Amino acid sequence: MASQANNSVASMTEPSGTVEAVELLPCPFCGEHAAVAETRAAGHTFYGVDCMGCGAQVHESDPQRAVMLWNNRRATPSDQETWESINQWCDDKFGPATIPKIIKRAKEEFDELEEDGANHAIEAADVVICLCRIPGFAEALQEKMAINRKRQWRLTGDGTGYHIPERNPT
Ligand SMILES: [Zn+2]
Repeated sequence: MASQANNSVASMTEPSGTVEAVELLPCPFCGEHAAVAETRAAGHTFYGVDCMGCGAQVHESDPQRAVMLWNNRRATPSDQETWESINQWCDDKFGPATIPKIIKRAKEEFDELEEDGANHAIEAADVVICLCRIPGFAEALQEKMAINRKRQWRLTGDGTGYHIPERNPT
């Protein structure tokens, strides 16, 4: 898919062969024009919307979704990262990742966490930055803590514990 001439309009080739013009909003970070580009990697085709100014990107397997994602994008609040902003940065920087790849990278970071003299807080952050890319992570965190708060716990006396399985009333 060629993306030149008019940077603010993406030509979308529909499955039917018709071409639809979709407006691309300016970059939420730097205000420059953006363009759609097609990438093939590992047998998959991805559609990216790339900022011509700062290089911000979104990647999707579907061109319409890429444009929608780009147009709904907002600049990250500068003071605090969120799970969403971390994910967005990872996707921009590295492209889409599969769950096995995410787990593999998280394990590598976990190994660094276990190394002698590791900066534990920094290495733990790297592990979590990897793992939070698993789709549904932020929601699962809320859901799981709600469950944990209601559970009964067997304390081991070393600052950790195991939850006591609820008895099945049947
Ligand atoms: Zn930009």
